[in-house]
Amino acid sequence: MPPVLPTALPGPLPPLASEAQLRALEADLLAAGLAPLRQPQDLARGSSVAFVYSPVLTPLLTGCVAQMLVRVQSVDEVVKVAAACSREGVSLTLRGAATGNYGQCVPLAGGLVLDLTGLNRLRGLDAETGVVTAEAGILLEDLDQQLHAQGRALRLVPSTTRTATLGGFIAGGSGGIGSLRWGFLRDPGHLLGLELVTLEPQPRLLQLDSAAARGINHAYGCNGIITALSLATTEAVDWRQLVIGFSTWDGALEAAQLLPASALLLNGLCLLEAPVAAQLPWPSGCPAAQGQEHRLLLLAAPGAVAPIAAWLKELGGELLWQAPQGASRGVPLRELSWNHTTLHLRARDPGWTYLQLLLPQPEAPCLETLKATWGDALLWHLEAVRSGGSQRLVALPLVHWQGAGALERLIDQCRQLGAVLFSPHAITVEEGGLGGVDAEQVAAKAAYDPAGLLNPGKLRGWLERQTGAAIPGPP
Ligand SMILES: Cc1cc2nc3c(=O)[nH]c(=O)nc-3n(C[C@H](O)[C@H](O)[C@H](O)COP(=O)(O)OP(=O)(O)OC[C@H]3O[C@@H](n4cnc5c(N)ncnc54)[C@H](O)[C@@H]3O)c2cc1C
Repeated sequence: MPPVLPTALPGPLPPLASEAQLRALEADLLAAGLAPLRQPQDLARGSSVAFVYSPVLTPLLTGCVAQMLVRVQSVDEVVKVAAACSREGVSLTLRGAATGNYGQCVPLAGGLVLDLTGLNRLRGLDAETGVVTAEAGILLEDLDQQLHAQGRALRLVPSTTRTATLGGFIAGGSGGIGSLRWGFLRDPGHLLGLELVTLEPQPRLLQLDSAAARGINHAYGCNGIITALSLATTEAVDWRQLVIGFSTWDGALEAAQLLPASALLLNGLCLLEAPVAAQLPWPSGCPAAQGQEHRLLLLAAPGAVAPIAAWLKELGGELLWQAPQGASRGVPLRELSWNHTTLHLRARDPGWTYLQLLLPQPEAPCLETLKATWGDALLWHLEAVRSGGSQRLVALPLVHWQGAGALERLIDQCRQLGAVLFSPHAITVEEGGLGGVDAEQVAAKAAYDPAGLLNPGKLRGWLERQTGAAIPGPP
């Protein structure tokens, strides 16, 4: 079993690029018509990532800064950057919107950071199958708006959909809004293919089908540069945002268990314990949460609103506010959910951090035992998801930071109670997931980044391979 929380950067890491390597790389990039940046303020900006949610990661990742930054606008430019890094032996870390909150695109070993946000075109939507193909740097919200105009929508988006990129979501994210219906990004059937640039002196531009793309999915950009992706979409629905108040936690939890198992069309369900709800910035027109009121936030199809309101009354809930998504003022409801809940609590008190747990069923005994142990240092925030084909609840509890020892004890207790941890205090792909090495990801790195230059330190399976552990075959 690997250590619960990292205490040092993973290794072995390559050395920083020498001044001679940097000069050679700069000359290559300038010759390719690109504009590499080396000013400290540009490098600091190009290395900053949203890892402050973790007091474990913050001291480890602060100070990990790129040595050069470059932005591209086309696949041809990506190929030129890959060739130059490979030729000069400089490590390369890919950057979308840099909202990955485990510091996924922090360059642990300096080198070049490649900003892909200029690669932002929608390439096409197949009217018959609904499969969309778009470039990796496109903003998720821009893509979704273009899909909506044609009656389609992304199945899954993170709560950062207004700022995050498609490539960053696939390479660094997991799910979010829509996970109640559609599960998680690595579930078969979401990612149907991708275009990849390899990191070799003569980079290859590959078109991978869904099977070959599996090893690239959620690999933190460690095993190839994604330039375009093909994804399944769903029908566009004008979701309604609903806020429901409950005076008892048991009633609210029962509603959170029953609703996803109903025939009502929902796209999101978030349950917030009263002290969390009391600290959030509610959309304009929605009453602020008071006292002991727990809140259930729903994204529901228009036809589901009336049945939900009637049913929830029976369970002790009261519909407090509703508005069509995209038509309300202030914070949209989805930006009170997923990791945005943590963001808002931290804006009031930066002592809050969080965990991500798939809860055992039934959920109540686990929640009650943890609450009894940790009291107000642990506040409940639950989300409904589909996991392995079943409706489940995940918890993103707010945890008041009492040091690494206390966090490790809490994690240990969660595991003993049957919860599965997806740690937001992890540096490598593996520790952020279930802990095991994915042979397909490592084999893809061997095939597409044989010198190990992409995002060094983030794929534990590759580090183990370098130090002599098991070597998987080619993909
Ligand atoms: C407040 C808040 C809320 C969040 N909510 C959610 C949520 O609901 N669900 C969720 O899954 N995540 C969530 N996240 C994490 C993050 O916002 C998302 O995963 C987002 O989709 C990442 O996209 P990005 O463009 O910012 O990626 P980045 O952070 O730029 O990159 C993420 C990873 O992908 C790699 N990468 C980027 N582009 C490419 C490419 N073209 N090819 C290969 N690799 C690439 C990077 O190297 C990095 O390892 C949240 C984060 C915050 C701060």
